[in-house]
Amino acid sequence: SDHLINEYKKKSVGLQKIFADLEKLAKYPNITADGVKINLAMNYGLDLDYEYIKPTHCDGIGLYRTEITFMSAEKMPDVESQERQYKKLFDALGNKKIIFRSLDVGSDKFLPYWGDIKEDNPAIGWRSIRITLDRRAILRKQIRAMLRAAADKELNVMFPMVSTVQEFIEAKETLMIEYEREKQRGNPTAKDVKVGIMIEVPSVLFQLDDLLQHVDFVSVGTNDLYQFVFACDRGNPRLSDRYDVLSAPFLKLMKRIVDQAGQYKVYCSVCGEMASNPLVAMALIGLGYRNLSVAGASYAKVKKMILSMREEDVSDYVKSLLKSQKNSIRPQLSAYAYDHSIAID
Ligand code: PEP
Ligand code: MG
Repeated sequence: SDHLINEYKKKSVGLQKIFADLEKLAKYPNITADGVKINLAMNYGLDLDYEYIKPTHCDGIGLYRTEITFMSAEKMPDVESQERQYKKLFDALGNKKIIFRSLDVGSDKFLPYWGDIKEDNPAIGWRSIRITLDRRAILRKQIRAMLRAAADKELNVMFPMVSTVQEFIEAKETLMIEYEREKQRGNPTAKDVKVGIMIEVPSVLFQLDDLLQHVDFVSVGTNDLYQFVFACDRGNPRLSDRYDVLSAPFLKLMKRIVDQAGQYKVYCSVCGEMASNPLVAMALIGLGYRNLSVAGASYAKVKKMILSMREEDVSDYVKSLLKSQKNSIRPQLSAYAYDHSIAID
């Protein structure tokens, strides 16, 4: 229909603008106006995301949502097809860091060939690492494909929805067994393996001291963390404006995570959608985050914000708002950004 054609035309114009912005920004490194280096990676999953890798000149992939290939296939992808998919990304990124997330299905992510699993509360049901620890063969095959694709490079694997230290230890053991097997078989395999978790489940916040001694890196999955912390369904439009990640309780929690990771010298990033919003990314940097992973389409906007902010000043301001009892400190942060010519649009 004409309506649909017009919608796509608008999208196409929007895309051209994004690519033009990225080109203009290409010569600048991701450094704030007062000289703080930010590692700005990209989230990857859809084939479309591939188009953003070159123009963004991103500092790696901070979250590879591997489940998207599984969701769009007609049957469970075998090791070879997964390996091809992962290799394509290694080839495109050279030696930049790629963080592969193990299969994260269940809840809102549905595998069409897996039958309909009915649960009363799927968001807190049998999903993600809970499935792959119970169906270990799926995890082992996926790890095998990653190890082979990584031949002679560093492989970073991240486990989603980890709720206990033991879950992480079991998942890591499975990975390490596969790694040793691949070496014994004489297959081309990763030069080194780093293992981490997503921080998405509040129980992890009470085990951080322990977990940070086991992991090589953590990445905060704020989409899920937000919904569990506020007990607020992330997909329910009735609730979409009710609470805010830009509020004192949530930002205090985010600060605690980055501070604690810093004490253990563990690489800590944010890969939830929150980081893709320039104003929120500004607050995160002010709280101490130096690693963000954002949607390709938001890369230019977040980069412009980074180039225009002064970390030291933003940090003082954000921290001064952490006592607020309001549902949101967004108005104050937006006003600050406008007053200080920080690009947040
Ligand atoms: C998250 O929960 O923040 C996240 C990045 O994972 P996903 O959105 O894929 O659940
Ligand atoms: Mg998640």
